[in-house]
Amino acid sequence: MEQPPREQPKFILDGMLGSLARWLRLLGFNTLYYETQSDDEILEQTEHRILLTRDKTLLVRAQKHGVMVINPGSGLIQEMLQHLQDRLRICFLGDPNQSRCPQCNSHLKSTTRKEIQDRVPKKSLDRHHQFWQCLNPQCGKVYWQGRHWTRIQQTLDNLRIPPKEQ
Ligand SMILES: [Zn+2]
Repeated sequence: MEQPPREQPKFILDGMLGSLARWLRLLGFNTLYYETQSDDEILEQTEHRILLTRDKTLLVRAQKHGVMVINPGSGLIQEMLQHLQDRLRICFLGDPNQSRCPQCNSHLKSTTRKEIQDRVPKKSLDRHHQFWQCLNPQCGKVYWQGRHWTRIQQTLDNLRIPPKEQ
């Protein structure tokens, strides 16, 4: 019998992990992150979310609340992603159609050049064919696969695939 697909983990990150938050959103994970939240505010929002923090006090408090909490380590993004991939047995794939907005965590929609032509520098407009726009009307940010995407892909390619569950 086929296993039903496992639900994607959702995350909440403390204020120190801004760049990891943007990465997780880009990789398609529902990720809450507010720069100035207090520990109490974070703990109030952990329902059904995995808390990522390097803060030992918050880590212990979260564990006492029965929250799943992971310290992603203090290394480079690649090391933190590797840690999460191994620990959660997930595989980070760079699929821009699954991405969430790194700024606001909303879903993105694929869009046409015509729709966003006044919002993107001419050079990028000429060079790229695919664009995505944030569905949150207050944000509406437009994305395309520029040079940063090549770096993202390289980082993901360097991750070791976790061993399959038996
Ligand atoms: Zn957005």
